[in-house]
Amino acid sequence: MNVTDSLVTFASHNPKTGEVLKDFHTSDQSTVDRVVADARTATTAWQALGYEGRRKVLLNWCSVLTENLNEIGALISSETGKPVGDATLEASLAIGHLAWAAKNAGRVLKSHVRPSGILMFNMKSVVGRSPMGVVGVIGPWNYPIFTPMGSISYALAAGNTVVFKPSQFTPAVGEWLEHSFASIAPFPHIFSVVQGLGETGQFLTTSNVDKISFTGSTRTAKLVAATCAARMIPVVLECGGKDPVIIAGDADIDKAAEYVLWSAMSNAGQTCIGAERVYVVEEVADAFIEKITRLAKKLEPGKSYGPATMPSQLGVIQSHIDDAASKGAKFALGSTHSVGERYVEPVIMLDVPEDSLAITDETFGPTLTINRTATIEEAISLANATRYGLAASVWSKRTGHHIASQLQCGMVSINSVIAFAAIASVPFGGVKDSGYGRIHGPEGLMEFTYPRTVISPRFKFPIEFTTFARTKFADNFIKTLIKFLHSKVVG
Ligand code: NDP
Repeated sequence: MNVTDSLVTFASHNPKTGEVLKDFHTSDQSTVDRVVADARTATTAWQALGYEGRRKVLLNWCSVLTENLNEIGALISSETGKPVGDATLEASLAIGHLAWAAKNAGRVLKSHVRPSGILMFNMKSVVGRSPMGVVGVIGPWNYPIFTPMGSISYALAAGNTVVFKPSQFTPAVGEWLEHSFASIAPFPHIFSVVQGLGETGQFLTTSNVDKISFTGSTRTAKLVAATCAARMIPVVLECGGKDPVIIAGDADIDKAAEYVLWSAMSNAGQTCIGAERVYVVEEVADAFIEKITRLAKKLEPGKSYGPATMPSQLGVIQSHIDDAASKGAKFALGSTHSVGERYVEPVIMLDVPEDSLAITDETFGPTLTINRTATIEEAISLANATRYGLAASVWSKRTGHHIASQLQCGMVSINSVIAFAAIASVPFGGVKDSGYGRIHGPEGLMEFTYPRTVISPRFKFPIEFTTFARTKFADNFIKTLIKFLHSKVVG
């Protein structure tokens, strides 16, 4: 940080042991305001670099991140508790997005000419994309580099400067990102980090930023959106999910069991696009349950996945398991005693009533519900019967696309899970309580710009409309032309 922070500190912890890793100064309102003001001073020069200049800077950042992949992997692992391999994969995917945004911003956002229509055919109409200015990014702890970089990379490539507030559980990752960018930055204040608890995030939303991109819970997202609405600034909300999996009768059961288990339990289930609910048609239900349970028994908390990064999540997971058990759910694996002091053993629940918390609310733990359905239509209907709409996974050899087309969510994987997050050219985001706006892909670049229309006369047209000197002839000409163009009834 290049400004004086408050004297108040907070600590980052190793969730495996509870040990304090490092103390950080909390950024108070005046600090956040100053960082945002500094970021604004850098916008003109950052935009003046153009797409090509920014491409070079951002690709140099890619290079620094790549060279230090082991270090950043270890750091993510120490703050989140996830295995180093998973942390390194996460960082690698973030680098892929940064490179894509850097290389494609110029192409996606370049100005283009649009047809002006018959009435205005003498005008040249050009639509360009302008960066918003300063973008505030509020990040989560579950993927502390991959998720925020989905906003940071695209916002920077589009010509914005960025102020990032990492989660209080992963401040060192945020600090590392800031330092690594500073090592290649052509001048200061292009990318800055403010640190603190939720209150610092709130300070960022009330500061003089031009847009907020938030990832986290739906509850906090609504507070952020309300603050942004009061300031009349746009916001991207990437919230949680209760992602369904649909297994059809013609699914490859072995592959489905293997991939769905990873989707549900990797990263200790703390994945917004991870599987939480399975709807499997009766004819293959026994085979699927037998297979996934057999595979899940081999998982070792502490090796296959880490502890709950946020200790309070353990209470949420316990409450969902207890509620399902009290409503009559059966356990294929685990029990109401599977939640430990830091780690959660894998839990697979069967025949879980649809009004259970484990079905209605985001659990964010290594748990999975599996319910049988009589038909695929019933599976689709139950998959959609949720306030969330982030992602879904469909398993079928023949009807995957037909099923996918009926799902109310932002992303669907057919015979696969989660892989869309690693494809930089496709948008990422949800509907309903999972949020709105998109990161990644061309949509992610456009999200951090606004369209600007510029029109100019190509040549002088003898009949003028936008003047008090408009003639009777011009009025008649418009009427005749509009009748000619639009009076026909289409059968
Ligand atoms: P939050 O939504 O509270 O936190 C997300 C981010 O917002 C963090 O950086 C947080 O800071 C910040 N924040 C908190 N309060 C405010 C505020 N009033 N204004 C602006 N920013 C704020 O989520 P939690 O970390 O508490 O997790 C709660 C639940 O949310 C989880 O159990 C999970 O279900 C879901 N979640 C979903 C994620 C996803 O990927 N979609 C990611 C994380 C959580 P700080 O961390 O310092 O409090």
